[in-house]
Amino acid sequence: MMQESRVKFAGLAILVVAIALTGVAIWKTQPTGERPLVSVMRQPQRVMGTTCRLIVVVPQDEQRRANEMLDAAEQRLRHIESLCSTYIETSELSRFNTGQIDQLGETTGLIANLAHGFWRESDGAFDVTARPQFQLWKRCAAEGRLPRKDEIAAARELSHWQLIVWDRSIPRKTKPTVQFDLGGIAKGYAIQQALVSMHEAGAVGGLVDVGGDVHCFGVTADGGKWEVGLRDPFGQRVLFHLKVRNRAVCTSGNYARFVEIDGKRYSHIIDPRTGMPADHVPSVTVIAMDATTADAWATALSVLGPSGLEMLPEDTEAMIVTGTSDDYDVHTTPGFNGYMGKFEVQNSKLE
Ligand code: ADP
Ligand code: MG
Repeated sequence: MMQESRVKFAGLAILVVAIALTGVAIWKTQPTGERPLVSVMRQPQRVMGTTCRLIVVVPQDEQRRANEMLDAAEQRLRHIESLCSTYIETSELSRFNTGQIDQLGETTGLIANLAHGFWRESDGAFDVTARPQFQLWKRCAAEGRLPRKDEIAAARELSHWQLIVWDRSIPRKTKPTVQFDLGGIAKGYAIQQALVSMHEAGAVGGLVDVGGDVHCFGVTADGGKWEVGLRDPFGQRVLFHLKVRNRAVCTSGNYARFVEIDGKRYSHIIDPRTGMPADHVPSVTVIAMDATTADAWATALSVLGPSGLEMLPEDTEAMIVTGTSDDYDVHTTPGFNGYMGKFEVQNSKLE
């Protein structure tokens, strides 16, 4: 039985000090052992419609190779975006969704296959086939009204996993109305692939950050762990820094993305089992072995809430914030606190 620990964030004053103490620049270069290491950073523009930061750590005498590694990582991100984006009309996924093709290619098919695994593990909370429901909410928001029950049911009928058959692990739709939305997993997959490319190219360490979702491996230039900012669930500030190595940290939050109907905000994450927005969980952060798992589970836990913590796969930790900015609770898996600086948070209510 998983023991759920509850923590409260410390007061703002402590947080500011904590951030000042832990916010040591990761680009610092220090010699370790025989071969000094250096980190090289790039911030490519217009990746998946958000911010992007790539860092590779290499021995100083191999520094000229760093740019090639960054090129390869950036190229991986852009390639996966070009396949999976529903904002690009000609992407493979868009062509699948509009019925121009009824079978996905190898990479997109693999992502859908992984998504199917998360659907099973999360008891249906994570469901990339529920795109017509997601679209319905967006359409209704534009019209300034809530969807009706019959519209929600009709959207569900159009697309679900039972309408998919698998040809050598690649999904094929048996009804033209089936649509996938890989928005809750493709970014994580792309981040992971970019990181793998750095590793394969021989980097000693690396970090890929797309919109605050991060995956890192190996060491920083001073031989230490990576520090990953944990954002305020009710704002955009960084509250804590997690210290991680060979892990991914992904967050799903309602603060930045929502639809507004009649002055009320609704989450962009929908519970596919009810067709209603997952509004009781403002923020979820997941630490996992890879960014695909962290990304998908952050979305799944936004739907499931704290009871979903028990369903997490091995070596996966999470923090769920419930409630409102005036009255909130923080639920974590026992292992999550091990990634936080002792000074910043204690395993009990601080207030
Ligand atoms: P972000 O893109 O900010 O990282 P998330 O990772 O939480 O956000 O993914 C949210 C996106 O996932 C939504 O915009 C939508 O495309 C898709 N989505 C929404 N609800 C679900 C769900 N229950 N299962 C799978 N994907 C979902
Ligand atoms: Mg995400």
